[in-house]
Formats: sequence, C-alpha cells, structure tokens
Amino acid sequence: MDKNTIRLLRPDFQYESLKNIPVEDLINNGIKGLLLDLDNTISPWNDRTLSSEVVSWFHKIKAQGIKACIVSNNRQPDRVAAVADILGIQYVCQAAKPGKKGFGKGLKHLGLGVKQVAVVGDQLLTDVLGGKRMGMKTILLMPIDEQEFGGTKVLRFLERLFGRKTYYTRKFARQDMAARRYHDK
Ligand SMILES: [Mg+2]
Repeated sequence: MDKNTIRLLRPDFQYESLKNIPVEDLINNGIKGLLLDLDNTISPWNDRTLSSEVVSWFHKIKAQGIKACIVSNNRQPDRVAAVADILGIQYVCQAAKPGKKGFGKGLKHLGLGVKQVAVVGDQLLTDVLGGKRMGMKTILLMPIDEQEFGGTKVLRFLERLFGRKTYYTRKFARQDMAARRYHDK
C-alpha cells in the first residue's frame, strides 16, 4: 500500500464515542458542520435506540451552532429517517460510502463547504476513507457494539492492519493481557 493510501486512512481525531467529542475541539478546528455515520456511531447496529447521552450531545452541538446530518450506507430509509427526526437533523441513506456522492448530498443539506465539515464514524474504510477523499476532516469513534454483520467484521480485520488505535477495543485489550502474561513467564 502506498503512502497516499495510508494517509487517506488516517483519521484527524479519535475519540471513544460521540459524547467524548468536546464541542470546543470542533470550534477550535473551524468545524461548523458534521456528517455522521448512523450504525454503531449514533445508535447500535440496526437499532432505533438512542441513548440519552447521545441525544444531549446533539443538543449541545446545536446550541453551539454546529450543524449535523446523517450520512448512512443503511438501506432502510424508515430507520434512518426515524433517528434523524428524533435528533431534528437531515439525512442521506444508501450513501454508498466511501463514494463521494452521498457525502456531497450531505454537504448540500448542511449548506457548508468541505473545509468547514468533519465526517464522524466508526469505520476507517467507509467513513474515514470517504471523508478524506472529499478533503474533509475525519473523526473516528469506537463502534457502539459488536453486533455487526459478517461484511463489517472483515472490514474491521483490515482496519487493524491499517493501524486503528487498537487499545480501545476490548478484544485487543484481552489479547494484550494474554501476551503480557505469556511474557511474564
Ligand atoms: Mg458505522
């Protein structure tokens, strides 16, 4: 893999979850809008549940004048719309990330340019790669849960090869402990 490809897979910021993104960090980096992934970023995979922490985080960014729009590869418009309605934001579904088209629609909804917007998501190969290809800043979060379909699991394996900060993942933490125990012997 060449250096340019690796650069496209390097997020600008990493946090554990939405509620850990300080609004000041967004403002200080000139970010006026967010294009957010839905599954495992805002809510658990294929689930309409929204935690109160997530809802209040959206209130907080809105109060600071930061706009938000969901850009999801999910193929169920009803579910994406339901979550967007609760949060009072617009959405793009079947976005085909890392393709550019869905992100372009999201930017139109926000009425902002690429330099003012960051992509937020839990996957390097769709959210981060797609955002970088557009020239936007990217924020990588840890997935809300491990309830995913097979295809995503394959992507996760690839992501680890591309250097996601692995210490956030429980599985890796366990492996690390096992390795240390082995080392201690
Ligand atoms: Mg996701």
